[in-house]
Amino acid sequence: MNIEPTPPTGKGPAEWFTGDVWIEQIVAPKVDGQRGNLGRVRFAPGARTAWHSHDLGQTLHITEGTALLGTRDGQVIEARPGDTVYTPPGEEHWHGAAPDAFMEHLAAYDTSVDPPLGVHWHEHVSESDYRRRT
Ligand code: MN
Repeated sequence: MNIEPTPPTGKGPAEWFTGDVWIEQIVAPKVDGQRGNLGRVRFAPGARTAWHSHDLGQTLHITEGTALLGTRDGQVIEARPGDTVYTPPGEEHWHGAAPDAFMEHLAAYDTSVDPPLGVHWHEHVSESDYRRRT
């Protein structure tokens, strides 16, 4: 047993995110057979992912701020600290901060081989899709 080195904080790439997003990879597979990943992701107000899907699904746990999460059917849901949001394999979606506050979530997902991390990235989320609420 050991305490792991503190992971570096990296800026989320502009092709995958709108606005300022910072990521720390807390858990990554270490030995054959492990597939679990856990990241801490911090979004500036208004920042969000591009549209994407996860080959093996994703679980988000909101730790700070107000999260907005959208799906292709036009639904945008709001989640708060303590909420856990599951996205099934293959469902296209986005997640980010509300316009007026920072947001932090933990993101858990299983690695798949292709594409890297099992994430399929698509176009950025438009202002009108981001602002839509049901
Ligand atoms: Mn996702």
